[in-house]
Parts: sequence; C-alpha cells; structure tokens
Amino acid sequence: MSIVDLKEAVAALRAGDVVAIPTETVYGLAGRIDREQTLRQIFAVKQRPFFDPLIVHVAELAQARALTAEWPEIFDDLARAFWPGPLTLVAPKTDAVSSLITSGLDTVALRCPRHQLALEIIRQVGVPLAGPSANRFGRTSPTRAQDVKDEFVDEVSVVDGGPCEIGLESTVIQAQRQGDTWKIGILRPGGVSRAQLQAVLEPKYKVEIERLHSVASPGHLKAHYQPTNPVVIVRGPIPEDKAPIEHALSRPLERVHTLILPATPELAARTLYAEFRRLSEQPGAIVVQQIAANSGPDWEAIWDRIERASSARI
Ligand code: AMP
Ligand code: MG
Repeated sequence: MSIVDLKEAVAALRAGDVVAIPTETVYGLAGRIDREQTLRQIFAVKQRPFFDPLIVHVAELAQARALTAEWPEIFDDLARAFWPGPLTLVAPKTDAVSSLITSGLDTVALRCPRHQLALEIIRQVGVPLAGPSANRFGRTSPTRAQDVKDEFVDEVSVVDGGPCEIGLESTVIQAQRQGDTWKIGILRPGGVSRAQLQAVLEPKYKVEIERLHSVASPGHLKAHYQPTNPVVIVRGPIPEDKAPIEHALSRPLERVHTLILPATPELAARTLYAEFRRLSEQPGAIVVQQIAANSGPDWEAIWDRIERASSARI
C-alpha cells in the first residue's frame, strides 16, 4: 500500500487500476467506467455486492450529459448551483454505461466532485470514474488517507488530499415532472440539504421534495456505515452506568464511549466518521445522544448515517 501523487494516480487509473482518491465528501475507490475488469475490481476490493450501484464521477456537466439518455431541465439548474459539489443526480442512462455500474437499472447516478485533486485526476484520465467510498462494504467511510490505509493495508494505493471538507456522502436525487410540478426524490440525504435544494429551485419551479426509501435506491441498506464498536442512540439523558447500554446490546461491555456531536451540522458531518473510528480504538460501545438541538431537517443526513450505523436505541 502506498501514497501516490497525482501523476502516478493518473497513470494507474489510465491503465485500468483501482486507486483511492480524495473528494470533498469521503475518499473514493476510483476506476475508469469503460473497463469491465476495472469495475469488477472495485466490487472485489470493497467486497461490495453487485446489487449496489456505483456513482459516476465527472469533471464537467458535458461529460455527465454524454452518459444520459434524458436530462431533466431542472438538473441544469441544480448542476449550475451545486456542481462541483456533493450532489448526485440520477437520470436515464445511455448504452455506454455498463450495467455493472447501475446494478442493472436503466438510470445512472452522476456527480462532479469539488476536491481540486479529484477534478484534476478525472480531467487527466479523460474518462469518468466510478467511485464508491474507499471502505469495505457496510463499514465506516474514510475521510482521511490514513483511514484508507488502515482499511486496505497494501491492496490499493491512495492519493492524500487531506481531511475531507464535507465528511459525509453526497445527496442523491432523482427528478420527475408531473403536470406543472417537479417531484424531487431524495434517495440518500447528504452534503446538500433540502433547504439548499429548495432555495435554488423554488424561485423558478413548483417543486415537491420528498424522501424516497430503499426501493428506488437499492444499495441504501438499513445497516451501513458501521464502525467496529456498536453504536447506541440515546433519546433521553445519557445513563450514568453502562447497564442500560449492555441491556440494549444484550452483551457485557468493557466501556461506553460518548460521541458528542458538535453544535452545527456542518461540523458534525465533517467529524462523524473520524469520531466513529477514534471511539472504536478501544473495545466498548459508542453512545450518541439525540436531542432537539441536533435534530431537524439540517441534520437529516447525519442522523441517517448514525441510524444506519447503530445497533440499538434506548
Ligand atoms: P456510494 O456508496 O457513495 O458509492 O453511493 C452509491 C449509492 O448511490 C447507492 O448505494 C445508491 O443508494 C445510490 N445510487 C447509485 N446509482 C443509483 C441509481 N441508478 N438509482 C438510484 N440510486 C442510485
Ligand atoms: Mg459507501
């Protein structure tokens, strides 16, 4: 396992290798989308099941449109506002997109990342890159190069782009027009909030934004993002001793670590996965307290991840 620079990463990716690269959301396991062997390698390294589709990363809007058979006009407004950035747009695909990427769906998920290294790598490779998070399937996503090294040891090379600015995966959406209304379906909450989507769309369109659940987004499983220690969500005061947590997990615990969420959703997103890792260094359980001050629509993505990472709630 080695840290590689931009030039080495571009050469390896061009040759069809899989390389971990930084993005502003989390580190991704990148590979060119036009080689079946490379795509298979991504699934193999991640131990990811083939029913979980990959996001395609592009350097510019034109590259995304070239892979889609239909492009809702509303996506132009969203791309203008949020690309490069943590918003993934799902649209009908062309035949150029392998069904390995889309798990057999006739749509493809596209995003233009805003990390300068990621953008430069995609530009120089000259082909869009598939890029799921650089962790084994179901585990916590990496937000630092060291996390990738810890996970894959010497299986993949990584480009070190520093800690991720957003720290959580992108928001994944689809859009459908019904009469005079645009229905925006959130398939996964993430780095762009509902309020941000509304602020861009509402002045121009009649929109309804709703959260869609797993059927439309096959890989978005109930259990995901799990750190090595179990996570317990606490809705009341944090218990003073560990008995209620042991009871909730049905097993004895060496200790209980408290994860204190920072005051703003931006900071909470940036630090969540690193905290999951830090609080798993010693065996025990991780408790997170859900209170009014850390709930509400701007915290949707954070609680989505904590809930999927959790094993119990009390
Ligand atoms: P990641 O695990 O960050 O690579 O994100 C991939 C996720 O994006 C998948 O698990 C799905 O939830 C979602 N996704 C990707 N492609 C599609 C698609 N064509 N339709 C709906 N959701 C998709
Ligand atoms: Mg992932």
